Amino acid sequence: METVKCNICGKKTPTQLWAKGKSKRNPKDRRVYRIVQCKKCGLIYTNPRLTSKELEEYYSLASYAGGRTTASEKNVKRAKMYEIEINQIMKILKKKFRKRKIKFLDSGCGNGLFLQALPDKGIEKYATEFSKDAARIAKKNAKIKKIWVGELSKLDFGEEKFDVVHMRAVFEHVQNPKKVLKKTHDILKDKGILILSTTPNVGGPAARVYKYRWVLTKPEEHIYYYTNKTIDKLLDMTGFKRFKTYYPYLNTPYCNLLKDHLNFVWNYISGKESASFWRSAFTIYARKQQKK
Ligand SMILES: [Zn+2]
Repeated sequence: METVKCNICGKKTPTQLWAKGKSKRNPKDRRVYRIVQCKKCGLIYTNPRLTSKELEEYYSLASYAGGRTTASEKNVKRAKMYEIEINQIMKILKKKFRKRKIKFLDSGCGNGLFLQALPDKGIEKYATEFSKDAARIAKKNAKIKKIWVGELSKLDFGEEKFDVVHMRAVFEHVQNPKKVLKKTHDILKDKGILILSTTPNVGGPAARVYKYRWVLTKPEEHIYYYTNKTIDKLLDMTGFKRFKTYYPYLNTPYCNLLKDHLNFVWNYISGKESASFWRSAFTIYARKQQKK
């Protein structure tokens, strides 16, 4: 495990935010995780946290690259989710880029199913992926022009620049968000668009009430827990300006209004994790600004 300072302001002595807890996924893991908050800027993060090497082990155990190929209910839900997200994305991209071909980089593409669902027409697809195995699968699944294996902030893109950098359920996993955004700024064209998609929102009601039992509290892999305020701080200091926010919940296959509201109360009383709920995740669109 390693101890880190605040990624936004560099302050070293955060306060413990929620009661510390054990791994939820791996009962054999005896380590104690803490979710802390910076006293100065309010950033919430796991500290101490797994080192890069420990994280690699963790991901290989979680068979991250595997990807389920059977037509399970989970796949159907995910496909529906992608459809909703892609409709939103295409609406915005059509407005911003008119008719020209869009260079779209999916950073942390996993097994490439999102890129597969994204239309090929008018979009040139690029990807980065941390896991070599997942990258190999992604290449088979989607029509990807080029894929870089490794962590975005450490990759060399040469002269390549993109119109869009998309990170889906990725930004909470990165070890150094500021560095990732700076790199994103470098590889985007002028007025390029950053999409931080379906990122856990620690400012939402389920997180506030359930704290460590919030379903998205996964201290091993969710290293950062953002609010609108801390996301904006990060965007501002790395040369981005937010222009659109979505809270994916209503109309998603994960939403069952009556059941979710009942479970919100019931799960809390019975000591379970939270269910799907309003504002548990957000998707943020930001545009590249000139560096200050
Ligand atoms: Zn701070």
